[in-house]
Amino acid sequence: MNVDSIKNGFVLDHIKAGCGMQIYRDLHLDEIDCPVAIIKNVPSKKMGKKDIIKIDADIELDLDILGYIDPGITVNVIRNDQKVEKKHLSLPEQLTGILKCKNPRCISSTEQELPQIFKLADKEKRVYRCLYCESAFKE
Ligand code: ZN
Repeated sequence: MNVDSIKNGFVLDHIKAGCGMQIYRDLHLDEIDCPVAIIKNVPSKKMGKKDIIKIDADIELDLDILGYIDPGITVNVIRNDQKVEKKHLSLPEQLTGILKCKNPRCISSTEQELPQIFKLADKEKRVYRCLYCESAFKE
């Protein structure tokens, strides 16, 4: 894979330096069968240093996970060697199946078939609360 050119896929730009590997894992890019490049510590005017991930495949990207990890990431969509779209992320209002409620008495802990749903409660402080028991999620 030529890391400079991608035919159809995505370039995740403005990743905080050092966070590329975590995003690689959180997006399960290790499980997909296509070329992926993580470029670390790229000099950036805006950030000093940044990481970039290039994905040379038209996969389903979970923008909610990305926005939750770091709303500052930019997602460039590449089609036929051209950048066709630049998506800016934001903190998602709702996360489904990403965070897990740690309250042992929560109905989502006892009823395994219920989806884990968290709502954004405080954008400034990045607080998410369980839809069922209102517990705030802690890392
Ligand atoms: Zn809960």
